[in-house]
Amino acid sequence: MEQHLKHYPVVIVGAGPAGCAAAINFKKKNIPVLLIDKADFPRDKVCGDGIPLKTFKLLEELGFNEDELFKGGFKISRMIVYSPQNHKTIYGSLKSGSAVKSGCIPRKYFDNLLFQKAASMADEVLSGNKVIKISNDKNQRRLTLRRAKDGSEFEITAGLVIAADGANSIIARQTGLLQSGEERRFDGMRVYYKGKAFDSTVHIFYDKRTLPGYVWVFPVAEDTANVGIMINKKSANIRKLFQEVLDTNPGVKQILNGAQPASDVRGALLTLGKMPGSRTADGVMLIGDAAAFINPVTGGGIYYAVLSAKKAAEFGSIALAEGNVLKENLALYEKWRRREILPGFKYSNMLKRRLSSERSAEWLLKRMSKNKLFANFFIMVYGRPLPKYTFLNPLFWVKVFLSR
Ligand SMILES: Cc1cc2nc3c(=O)[nH]c(=O)nc-3n(C[C@H](O)[C@H](O)[C@H](O)COP(=O)(O)OP(=O)(O)OC[C@H]3O[C@@H](n4cnc5c(N)ncnc54)[C@H](O)[C@@H]3O)c2cc1C
Repeated sequence: MEQHLKHYPVVIVGAGPAGCAAAINFKKKNIPVLLIDKADFPRDKVCGDGIPLKTFKLLEELGFNEDELFKGGFKISRMIVYSPQNHKTIYGSLKSGSAVKSGCIPRKYFDNLLFQKAASMADEVLSGNKVIKISNDKNQRRLTLRRAKDGSEFEITAGLVIAADGANSIIARQTGLLQSGEERRFDGMRVYYKGKAFDSTVHIFYDKRTLPGYVWVFPVAEDTANVGIMINKKSANIRKLFQEVLDTNPGVKQILNGAQPASDVRGALLTLGKMPGSRTADGVMLIGDAAAFINPVTGGGIYYAVLSAKKAAEFGSIALAEGNVLKENLALYEKWRRREILPGFKYSNMLKRRLSSERSAEWLLKRMSKNKLFANFFIMVYGRPLPKYTFLNPLFWVKVFLSR
């Protein structure tokens, strides 16, 4: 172990979308940062690669432009949601000039773009270094790191640690912040299909075997789609179930007809947004998946990763300027989560419950397919961080009437 430990005001653990966005946000406030990741970039991340439009707005604030982001991805103008009995609800249109609704960008490209920018701004970057321990050392945090190349270990100290180390966050576990549980997690799998022309539509199949999760087909290029499954049945053999749905669901078969698997099938965990527990401890803020900021019904987390990074930098920098990063002085971040994020996750969780049984899922999705207002209401709640008391706001209902 080294004698004189290097100290950093802000250490960001994890350089996925959350960590990179945090590094850029802190640097924009002229606060020195160290960015750490156990991987070397570019690295893959199992994901659906679906990025909601609102994320691009946040990324533009950080200096990214849409053309650069879409160079490695595909613009989406339509979404089709399928009921267990194949009733379809269509959002958006394929007509030329239709509004772009979202984008699908393979994470290997997307994350590397974010990483290159964050790394160019950070004061120091330690990729290929895994954080294996965090402890409190007087008024600072002590981190133990292990180098991937030779397994050697060293320590550093930090004023404020931003935990962006994903769904299996070692920081969240070692600080005892999140109370995990099976019902608060989804298991996901992903494979790329190639070999046919895909249009700019994302497909979401609520197959009866996957409820309340779903199977998706998200095109990431004209001839390539990200195909995946998300379920929360711990007992299920997810790989087998995934293959069964791909082989037998009529809608999935039709969309993939002519395409072939072009990658390994890989799995990863999703930590769902209603997970109890605080997202701050003395000198520690959790962001992104480490904070379980994933929409419980859609499984989407990239938007929340980038948003929570922005908020952590906003409130963390205030605490740093006041010279006090103890938990009570990070309360604004917790308050923001409870007011602006948690209510939306609760509404999504209500939908997730409706989608849990075949009967209620079919009822809901069939009704959506036949009733525009119902479909609009669904989409307003599905996938959006709605603040508290949204339903009491007349503007919300105006949007429901006017959307699509
Ligand atoms: C199957 C699946 C499909 C999904 N589909 C979508 C989708 O279509 N759209 C969407 O918005 N979201 C989707 N998500 C969720 C999305 O992937 C996450 O919300 C997003 O990756 C969160 O970003 P993050 O930066 O918090 O974490 P990550 O992207 O997981 O990044 C964490 C980083 O931390 C590093 N790290 C981990 N531990 C350590 C350590 N101990 N020391 C140092 N570094 C460490 C990792 O190497 C990694 O680079 C999906 C997730 C899964 C599993």
